[in-house]
Amino acid sequence: MFAQVVYFVRVYPTMGEVLYDKLLSRKLRKAKYAAKYRACNKEKIAKRNADYYAKNKESCAKRSAEYYAKNKESYAKRSAEYHIKHRTKLLQRHAEYRAKNKKKISKYFSQYSKTLVGIISNKRKCSKRRALQREASGSFSAKEFLALIDACNHRCPACGKQLETKEFTVDHIIPLARGGDNNIQNIQPLCMPCNARKGTKAITYPIQLQLLNPNLLSERI
Ligand SMILES: [Zn+2]
Repeated sequence: MFAQVVYFVRVYPTMGEVLYDKLLSRKLRKAKYAAKYRACNKEKIAKRNADYYAKNKESCAKRSAEYYAKNKESYAKRSAEYHIKHRTKLLQRHAEYRAKNKKKISKYFSQYSKTLVGIISNKRKCSKRRALQREASGSFSAKEFLALIDACNHRCPACGKQLETKEFTVDHIIPLARGGDNNIQNIQPLCMPCNARKGTKAITYPIQLQLLNPNLLSERI
């Protein structure tokens, strides 16, 4: 009797299993059909999507922004993996694009370099380049440098002169020439004359120390 039951269970699938198989094969059939349809009607589908996007631009943009915000990390991970995997192809494509669009790119950069973000970004890049020449480590963002300028109320911390954001220069508290690094903790925004006067001396004006690391105050002054 027991053997018969085992035999029965082993040979005949349960009703659930039968339904599951049916469902699965229906799903597979559907997916196969959909793939075939997509392959045969590529242009039609692309046009339909483009029409829909044109009609619903705002809601589409809103939805994709929301989706991006929710899945930021997985996006970043996937994009980093993609870049590593296709590095050669991407570099080649970028080079081709640059060669083809020389004028457009130089126009864009000349406009960008006149904006505030562009100006600060250039100062940051300059500082990074000088650091690399001295084999000094570290980097800081434009946002961090702007935060320093805000923190000193747009006044040069050395002479107190009120300045426009773009007039501030990047100064390394411990100069790169004397082994200082290029991290934000070693940066202070100074006016041009004060920066020139300071030269290769290591002078810390209070703003940087108080703002970023109060513990350094006793160490460096
Ligand atoms: Zn000054």
